[in-house]
Amino acid sequence: MSEMTHKAGRAAFGKAIDIALQHRDKDWEQDAKRLLDLMQKYMSGAKLEFDYERARERICDREGTLNRYVRRILAETDPHVLRTTALNLGFEAFFHGTRTIRKMRGIHQCNIPWLILMDPTSACNLHCTGCWAAEYGNRLNLSFEEMDDVIRQGKELGIYFYMFTGGEPLVRKADLIRLCEKHNDCAFLAYTNGTLVDTAFCQEMKRAGNMYLAISLEGFEAVNDLRRGNGVYGKVMHAMELLKENGLLFGTSICYTSRNIEAVTSNEFVDLLVEKGCRYALYFHYMPVGNEAAVELLPTVEQRVRMMARVREIRNMTTGKGLFTMDFQNDGEFVGGCIAGGRNYFHISANGDAEPCVFIHYSDANIRTHTLLEILKQPLFMAYRENQPFNDNPLRPCPMLENPEILERIVKETGARSTDLQSPESAEHLCAKCHEYAAGWAPAADRLWGEGRSRADRLWREGGSCTDRLWREGGSCTDRLWKEGRSQTDQQHENCRPSKTVSQIGGVGEAGAGKSRRGKKENHEKEKYETCQMAAGQ
Ligand code: SF4
Repeated sequence: MSEMTHKAGRAAFGKAIDIALQHRDKDWEQDAKRLLDLMQKYMSGAKLEFDYERARERICDREGTLNRYVRRILAETDPHVLRTTALNLGFEAFFHGTRTIRKMRGIHQCNIPWLILMDPTSACNLHCTGCWAAEYGNRLNLSFEEMDDVIRQGKELGIYFYMFTGGEPLVRKADLIRLCEKHNDCAFLAYTNGTLVDTAFCQEMKRAGNMYLAISLEGFEAVNDLRRGNGVYGKVMHAMELLKENGLLFGTSICYTSRNIEAVTSNEFVDLLVEKGCRYALYFHYMPVGNEAAVELLPTVEQRVRMMARVREIRNMTTGKGLFTMDFQNDGEFVGGCIAGGRNYFHISANGDAEPCVFIHYSDANIRTHTLLEILKQPLFMAYRENQPFNDNPLRPCPMLENPEILERIVKETGARSTDLQSPESAEHLCAKCHEYAAGWAPAADRLWGEGRSRADRLWREGGSCTDRLWREGGSCTDRLWKEGRSQTDQQHENCRPSKTVSQIGGVGEAGAGKSRRGKKENHEKEKYETCQMAAGQ
């Protein structure tokens, strides 16, 4: 696409968004339909299996959850934030970025991601039990210039979405706002403990318009503060109130374990998030990473089955709660399995090491010595590309958690080194902790995927898209298992006790168990996966 066409597209979208915002109190549905028309026109020629007609129908259904969800966002969000989000996350990242990335993948013959996750610092203002950040202290930092350069290079490849984790990224909030201002065509999301959010920062976020937060929570006050420290839950609630008052877009990031899974998916907890103004809840499966990892925190098979159904039930855009939920471990079908190694994202540590995933601490490349393209072509990332998807079953996506023999093999074959400066862990040690879990999950995952696939095949034939399923599914294929699982796990949940040893939070998690590695897909099938990724915002 030529630059003029890009500029013309952005201008047309900007104009349509302005008109929609003028009508946001009434009849906004007609403007939303016009935006969909524009999107259809702009994306014509791109292979994007998106059911525009169904989207138009659903957005106009005033009884449906989607209409209520959008209505609430329009009423409660600052207009500049709405406009910038629609332009940067919608137009630049989703449309223009996706087209550019696809082209770049062909040119460079390597993975080109849709987003990059960076740790601006290893420093943190809290001292959570089991977290490594306290050990590193403030020793490791990416400079403003280094992060700026990553974004500059990224945009040349079509990457318009950047996330920050840490450490506590808001320790560097002044630099993050500077990045938002300098790259005012990009979108930025920070995973944060929320305790450094204050009125001044909310005003800065509002002025920039392109920064979003995902605030970590592990449950209600007692469980959350046991690990994070007294008073942290209260500070998070206060941060959410400030963000809501200022009309900002934010959500939460939740690491679920065998101990807190019931609490963080309960009606009471989800209703609280909605009431506080959260627009999304990103659920991350506990990963047993690190020499001190607590394997007993891995969810049981029954818990994971229930989790899959529950997350779909909450996000159902016809009957759900009005909260967009993602469980990266169980939603692999919408993103084509594992998204790491630069396929859709990769992680840059506060030491500059470029890791395939926030959970996979091995690398051959560092931003201080390699360009982004060199990073994406490093042997470990190319091994990811060669082997993705790691399993035919997207409910078993991960080369570590559900296919541990694969990570062990590719780390060995590529000679990638551990990037953990505090307590380096061998791939053998890491993967050994996953074998039992992987073998236990495989039969349930295969059964679930088998049941779901017959439905999905029918939907493909009927023209339904991945997005439709994402919006619509309340886990009908898993409802039965959910009910069955509930009785089996109620007893376990009654015995739940808060953890003192959670060794990690946040990040991006997906899973895939067992042994088999998917062979190369045919091009047609690859395109289908790419469509799924895009439909899911990847
Ligand atoms: S957790 Fe596993 S499946 Fe998920 S992105 Fe990372 S490597 Fe891939």
